[in-house]
Amino acid sequence: MPGPHGFDIDSVRQQFPILDVEINGHPLVYLDSAATSQKPQVVIDAISNYYARSNSNVHRGVHTLSQQATDIYEETREKTRALINASDSREIIYVRGTTEAINLVASTYGRQNVGEGDDVIVTAMEHHSNIVPWQILCEEKGANLKVVPMDENGDLIMEEFDRLLSDRTKIVATVHLSNALGTINPVKEMFKKARTVGAATLLDGAQSAPHMAIDVKDIDCDFLAFSGHKLYGPTGIGILYGKYDLLSQMPPYQGGGEMIASVTFEKTIYAELPAKFEAGTPHIAGTAGLGAAIDFVNEIGLDNVAAHERTLLDYSIERIGSINGVKLIGNPKHRSGVISFVVDGVHPHDVGTVLDSQGIAIRAGHHCAQPVMAHFGIPATVRASFGMYNTTNEIDRLYEGVQQVFEVFG
Ligand code: PMP
Repeated sequence: MPGPHGFDIDSVRQQFPILDVEINGHPLVYLDSAATSQKPQVVIDAISNYYARSNSNVHRGVHTLSQQATDIYEETREKTRALINASDSREIIYVRGTTEAINLVASTYGRQNVGEGDDVIVTAMEHHSNIVPWQILCEEKGANLKVVPMDENGDLIMEEFDRLLSDRTKIVATVHLSNALGTINPVKEMFKKARTVGAATLLDGAQSAPHMAIDVKDIDCDFLAFSGHKLYGPTGIGILYGKYDLLSQMPPYQGGGEMIASVTFEKTIYAELPAKFEAGTPHIAGTAGLGAAIDFVNEIGLDNVAAHERTLLDYSIERIGSINGVKLIGNPKHRSGVISFVVDGVHPHDVGTVLDSQGIAIRAGHHCAQPVMAHFGIPATVRASFGMYNTTNEIDRLYEGVQQVFEVFG
């Protein structure tokens, strides 16, 4: 049935072949899109067509297949540029995913610009991938990692952010949308303040990219990291966006083929952007899939997706939150995509196992955000996360599944 703005959930679902799979004798209810999204047929086809018809290495050959592979590779770079409204496709660097993008920035820009006694600021709700690379950098440089705390609802305490900012702050790196709580952070405001002290800014868009349009000009971040596999694309391909001037000044991350202009044993001249950061044979098939995923998402419309997911989120908060013995974790002011909860007296892993027996896929654990768990004084949560293909009926299945948990564990 077409919903608001022409969003037709039935036709969306038909495009994801995995949704027809049965798990443990039940139709699959996939509520783990924050870990990775499912893939539409067009993405699967783009990858297999690439291998079947265009497989070759990029930028290296004069032959036709190499040209085709290069075209696919560069077309996706341009589609990505347009998706995030960057000025120049040379600001789009292919990486494996969000994790590699953040490590790249920490190891290059970070090493170049952070010194002894300087500060790097992150928030209390970061994924480990936006904590550990900065910790490694700070340890190496004798710098300090400062953390913006959050309140009991899972909202950042902005006065504390103001207090932490100083002329020692060299980098502010924050998650846009928390994978553990669903909080949407006021990143535009944070980055504006960061700029007043001359700090560089990095946005972890791993979770936000599939749920909302990201405009790097409007947010005015220096760096943006996200992963193809959460945006209905393949695993192993992700994006680092960086402002041209910053990327130009940064040293390379890895050395090897493709990232050079010329090599002698005495001296290597590095290639221009973006090749300088793309050493070695890249994940060409991944870019074929990512390009198809971006086309697919554009066709459905991220605004339509956001409106649909808002309905799912509101319904799930009401439905799951109403169950006696279930406690929702976090109640952020602005949120999307995710609910986290605990069930009285039952470990989240056991909840996950009972739900799985009914074909319901959720995440149970610390979600690579152990400091968030520590903040709420719990070891783990059950997390249900939504994609464009989920329905309110599936949330009813989750509701019934949780009732089953009480029956099993008395
Ligand atoms: N940041 C956030 C907020 C995430 O949710 C994730 C993935 N769970 C990552 C970073 C890391 O992404 P990847 O594993 O694709 O590198």
